[in-house]
Amino acid sequence: MAALVLFGCTVASVLSDPTFNGLPRDLKVVEIFSGVGSVAAAATASGLSSQPFDKFRIEGRTNIPGRSCEDLTVKAGFVNAVKLVMQLALGGLLWLAPVCSSWVGLNISRTLRSHKNNFQGDTTYPKVAEGNLQAKACAFFMQLAQFRGIEVILENPPSSTIFNFPVLRAAISSMKLVSFVTHRCAFDVSAAKGKRLWKKYKFVGPAAWVQKLAKPCPCQGKNHIYLTERWTDCHGKNRFKGLKTLLDKSAAYPAAMGTAAVKAWLSNTAEKHRAPDSETRGQKRKAVWSTNSWLQPSVSGAVDSRPSSKPHWCLPPAGK
Ligand SMILES: [Zn+2]
Repeated sequence: MAALVLFGCTVASVLSDPTFNGLPRDLKVVEIFSGVGSVAAAATASGLSSQPFDKFRIEGRTNIPGRSCEDLTVKAGFVNAVKLVMQLALGGLLWLAPVCSSWVGLNISRTLRSHKNNFQGDTTYPKVAEGNLQAKACAFFMQLAQFRGIEVILENPPSSTIFNFPVLRAAISSMKLVSFVTHRCAFDVSAAKGKRLWKKYKFVGPAAWVQKLAKPCPCQGKNHIYLTERWTDCHGKNRFKGLKTLLDKSAAYPAAMGTAAVKAWLSNTAEKHRAPDSETRGQKRKAVWSTNSWLQPSVSGAVDSRPSSKPHWCLPPAGK
C-alpha cells in the first residue's frame, strides 16, 4: 500500500521533522475525538499527564482554524494532533474514537458505503468526505503509534464500517490488534438498571489487555432506553430512525468506562515492564512511570530509533 499522505505529511516526514520529533515525550494518554473526555480525565485522576482533543471541546477555539484547532479535517487541527501523538511516551496510550455517523447504518441511504465501493461511500456527500478524512487521520496516527511504540485503541459501534475502511483495516492487521464488544450499561452506574441506554462499543486494540474492557450487560432482563424509533409505514414497510439526543448522549463514555480503560492499559503496562524477579523479594515497587527508563520522555530533539525494523508505510512515497 502506498504511503498515506495527509496535508502534505507522511509518517516518514513527521518522524524526521524536528518540529515533531523535537517535542518531549511527556504525555502518557492522548484521547482524540474525546467528547466528554472520560479517558483523559481518568488518566489525570491517576496522576498521569494526559490531553483530550476534540473539535468541539472549546467553542470558539478548538473548532476554528488556528493555534488551538482540534478539527482533523483542516491542516492546523491535523498538525496539532500529530504533535500530541509525537508527545506520547513509549508505551503511552492513544485513544481514537472517530465520529461514527458517517459509518453506521442509520445514514447508509446517504453515505452509500458498501463493500462494492470498498466502504469509500459517496464521496460527493460532505459527511462521507469528512468521515473518510477522519478515518485516514486515524490510520496515520496508528501508523505513527506503531513506529513510536504507543498502545492504540480504536473505538466505534460494532456495526460501523470504519473497521473495513482500507487504510484502517491495514493498520489493524499490521498492528495485530484484536476486537471486543462491551455494553455501555455495564459502566453507567449513574443510572438505575432499567433506565440505562442500549449501546454497545467495539474496541480494537492490543490483545494483551483490550479484552479487559469487554463487559456484558448486567441489567438482568430489565429494560433499556433505545436509541432508535421503529415503526411500520402506511405501505407496510418497516422504518426506523435515530433519536439524536439519545445518540449524542450514548456517544459520551460513562466516567467509569474511562477509569476502566486506563486501569486495563496500566495493568498491562505494569505487568509487561515489571522489574526482573531478581529484584529484592518484598521490596515495594515504585510507580511504573518513575522507575522504568523505557517510559521516560526521550531526549528532546532525539529521534526514537525503536522499533528497529520500519513498517513499510514509513518508507517515502514512490518518486521521493
Ligand atoms: Zn444492560
